[in-house]
Amino acid sequence: MNLTSMKELRPLMEKHGFSFSKTLGQNFLIDAEVPARIADNAGIDETTTVIEIGPGVGCLTKELSKRAKEVIAIEIDSRLIPVLGETLSDCDNVTVINEDVLKADLHALCDGKERVCVCANLPYYITTPIIMALLEQRLPLSRITVMIQKEVAQRFSASPGKKEYGAITAAINWYAKPKTLFTVSPGCFFPAPKVESSVIALDLVPPPTKVHDEKFMFSLISAGFEQRRKTLVNALAAKIGIPKTGIEKAITDCGFEPTVRAERLSVTDFAALSDKLSGL
Ligand code: SAM
Repeated sequence: MNLTSMKELRPLMEKHGFSFSKTLGQNFLIDAEVPARIADNAGIDETTTVIEIGPGVGCLTKELSKRAKEVIAIEIDSRLIPVLGETLSDCDNVTVINEDVLKADLHALCDGKERVCVCANLPYYITTPIIMALLEQRLPLSRITVMIQKEVAQRFSASPGKKEYGAITAAINWYAKPKTLFTVSPGCFFPAPKVESSVIALDLVPPPTKVHDEKFMFSLISAGFEQRRKTLVNALAAKIGIPKTGIEKAITDCGFEPTVRAERLSVTDFAALSDKLSGL
């Protein structure tokens, strides 16, 4: 069966009482080439276990299955489980789990595996929570390759000083090197989303520098960007309970003007500032 043909899929979906859910971000790929292109860029080889989030009817799962040692596909929508049972019946190396990925024990799934990658056409309503959960859990992943909204992808890889640069950019860059691979137009999905999509790869790397108190650094990042039009001194003074003079000195000691805004600082700059402030 062609898993990107709505004409072929419709009778199967009707048989299992499936209809698209907007709430679950169900925009399925209906372009015959995109799933293979994503799988080709997912850094997979025959030793790799792939965790796929949201297999839908399995068009990407099938491509991953051809390239990987095994695929573990986590799908929240129980109506899709019998559909996947049919569409993936010839894929011996695929296991489907009916669960919310945010509640799944991903460490247990990675346990004892030689090499693990994540690959997905993500539901757009929870893109950032899913990606941050994957990164913050420090799972032993080699690469995360995901399709997300184009404008979110631009935020992930923006440079300091750009309008797209924000707390999420700094956080992502603490854990990974983001790279945009290619853009996918709305017509490649059913139903078609209103926005363009991008496929991005996040190669997991050790943090770019050492920091004494990582939690404190992240609290500075979120406080700094919460009121991004304010100077960093004012944004932090309102949140962290350190006198303005101390914050100002730490900022100038890091080589910035006292009037600097959060958007000028890379995550490495935030780490340096965090170490200066955590002693105060
Ligand atoms: N992979 C399919 C494709 O490319 O055609 C479907 C992608 S669709 C954008 C997102 C999928 O994620 C849907 O199948 C949806 O049911 C599933 N999903 C949504 N929220 C989820 C969650 N919290 N955990 C696991 N799967 C989820």
